[in-house]
Amino acid sequence: MSQTVCILGVTGSIGQSTLKILQQHPEQYSLFAVTAYSRIDELVEICKQFRPKVAVVPSSKVDELQKKLQAENLLDIEILQDEAGLIKVASSAEVDIVMAAIVGAAGLLPTLAAVKAGKRVLLANKEALVMSGDIMMQAAHEHHALLLPVDSEHNAIFQCLPQNYFQAERNGQPKLGVSQILLTASGGPFLHQSLEELKKVTPAQACKHPNWSMGRKISVDSATLMNKGLELIEACHLFAVEEQFVTVVVHPQSIIHSMVQYVDGSTLAQMGNPDMCTPIAHALAWPERIQTNVPALDLFLHNQLNFTAPDLIKFPALRLAREAMREGGLAPAILNAANEIAVEAFLKEQISFLQIPEIVEETLNQVENKSANSLELILEADQQSRKIAQQMLTS
Ligand code: NAD
Ligand code: MG
Repeated sequence: MSQTVCILGVTGSIGQSTLKILQQHPEQYSLFAVTAYSRIDELVEICKQFRPKVAVVPSSKVDELQKKLQAENLLDIEILQDEAGLIKVASSAEVDIVMAAIVGAAGLLPTLAAVKAGKRVLLANKEALVMSGDIMMQAAHEHHALLLPVDSEHNAIFQCLPQNYFQAERNGQPKLGVSQILLTASGGPFLHQSLEELKKVTPAQACKHPNWSMGRKISVDSATLMNKGLELIEACHLFAVEEQFVTVVVHPQSIIHSMVQYVDGSTLAQMGNPDMCTPIAHALAWPERIQTNVPALDLFLHNQLNFTAPDLIKFPALRLAREAMREGGLAPAILNAANEIAVEAFLKEQISFLQIPEIVEETLNQVENKSANSLELILEADQQSRKIAQQMLTS
């Protein structure tokens, strides 16, 4: 039977890759709802091709979308707006699967709404989980949502864990013979740059990732290694382990997407060409497998796989994220909010590359950490951290 899909953030990099998979499997999946923030022309093209029932945009874009849909004679697509619209489609009774692919904190409430509605939630929007960790995982448990990782590393780890891992007790310890999670990192575009050279790198250089083509925010995060820091926190929540059970391994080829070590000396790895279509297809169809256009891995072309430890002096963002996870409470939400502000400022050339982790560290020092036991407290810390980080830009 065909399943209905809602793509939050359809115009983004993950949104586009998801459409590619849906297009290949029209008998299995149909698109019910799509959401976009700014690229209305792209959204209209998607509506023309996939005929979703609902489209969600910010209220400032409703008129534009309406006119453009009318011009294409697409009169039966309902338009909803703003966060209320996002939450409505993410939790709609007509949706089976939600792809959470909005970037940043803006995705938190819609993703949580999908989880609370008990959907199969394909989680790309790592910031939502970093901010709300325990609350999101608890909601998934209570509402029987299937929260499946799309982030390539977490999807790899999920594939390497025992099938019954998620029924086991969530107490911060690895279980069922698992001893360590090895989270791989490409090292980003500046892996071989010196600290001196990092002072002068530009947004264009930061967004030129050697292995993956992604949105601008995650590209900068990959360059600072904050992406790996956010992923470390993401892994701790998804797999219910304390941070010391997650080791970051720099593997510049991005062929191994992460690994799981077991107490008997086994290390399981998931490998493949770096293409997000693989983890997206895996999460869509799990526990089945469906076809993608990703070519099979040719190991004769990749006969050198390297592994090193990350340089925490050059890339302090990873250290800050690990510390935030260890500290717990609101620290990950504070880290995430400050990082979003700093990355945006770097992309606008208001600050230098090395100022990104400085702003994050200073915000963590200034905002009081408390226990993160309600969504209100998390959203409040998010707002406060943004304000403080913003002030640092102008001071
Ligand atoms: P992107 O910038 O290409 O797309 C972001 C999407 O979110 C767009 O559709 C945009 O319209 C929407 N959006 C942006 N701001 C919004 C707002 N305020 N309100 C509502 N919608 C908004 O980003 P991406 O690369 O596709 O990444 C999306 C998420 O997936 C991020 O959390 C990222 O960390 C994660 N992720 C991406 C990749 C990748 O390969 N691109 C890999 C792993 C994880
Ligand atoms: Mg990743």
